[in-house]
Amino acid sequence: MDGTGFTLSNLTKVYSSKKSDVLALDDISLAVPQGSFTALLGPSGCGKSTILRILADLESYSAGEVTIHGESPSSIRTAHRLGLALQDPSLLPWRSVRDNIRLPGQVMGVGIPKSRIDELITLVGLDGFADARPSQLSGGMRQRVAIARAIVAEPEILLLDEPFGALDEITRQRMNEELQKLWSATSATALLVTHSISEAAFLADRVIVMSPRPGRIVGDITIDFERPRRRELLSTPEFHAACDELSSLLHAGADEESLQAVEA
Ligand code: ADP
Ligand code: MG
Repeated sequence: MDGTGFTLSNLTKVYSSKKSDVLALDDISLAVPQGSFTALLGPSGCGKSTILRILADLESYSAGEVTIHGESPSSIRTAHRLGLALQDPSLLPWRSVRDNIRLPGQVMGVGIPKSRIDELITLVGLDGFADARPSQLSGGMRQRVAIARAIVAEPEILLLDEPFGALDEITRQRMNEELQKLWSATSATALLVTHSISEAAFLADRVIVMSPRPGRIVGDITIDFERPRRRELLSTPEFHAACDELSSLLHAGADEESLQAVEA
């Protein structure tokens, strides 16, 4: 490995159906360092999930090149070196919290020590719930189980698609702080898909702003607040300035899109 995290080179994705073709990603290029935290920010339909699914080897692409730590997404996936958490936590309802978190190890055929599982349960604040079923947990608690499951096998790359999108603002901020803590304890390269400006600015080293139809990168902002970042950061002028900058990039992207619609 050469210190490069993941790279997208001239990545293009067309979804084809009988009726029409959708250009979901139009010539996207991006390279991030190993161990960095990147956020993909943009309105719905701009191709964020498509990028994440391509990196997770859950989706093919039409043109370009993709590498993760110098290898193909499929070799990373088949070696179980990636962790994935989606908006729907998709836990197995008949399994306890502990057994849901244990699952990736079982899929890989390696036993993860009970002490490691218990440590993660504590880390995500679910002490006392190890034997609970998902139906006995709140939405926020289920997402914490999903995050614990995503990192249990110490993935090299952590892919998160709006994992906290369904949570209220306060729970979400608490989860963001926990996620930062969990990620700092690993050396994983992380990619977070979000449409929340403040979530992106709070968590990421770098925010990639996208606009839809076709999916393109319209901004690339480095966020260099020191870590660990605390809640107090949210009320500083520096944080507001970063959010304003992201917000104007997002709106510039949206305005350009409506202009194209008028011209078309
Ligand atoms: P985002 O995650 O930013 O909301 P997506 O990556 O889900 O965006 O979608 C990008 C574009 O591709 C959208 O126009 C969406 O309708 C289209 N798209 C996504 N998945 C499919 C699919 N399986 N088949 C056809 N079109 C799709
Ligand atoms: Mg999406």
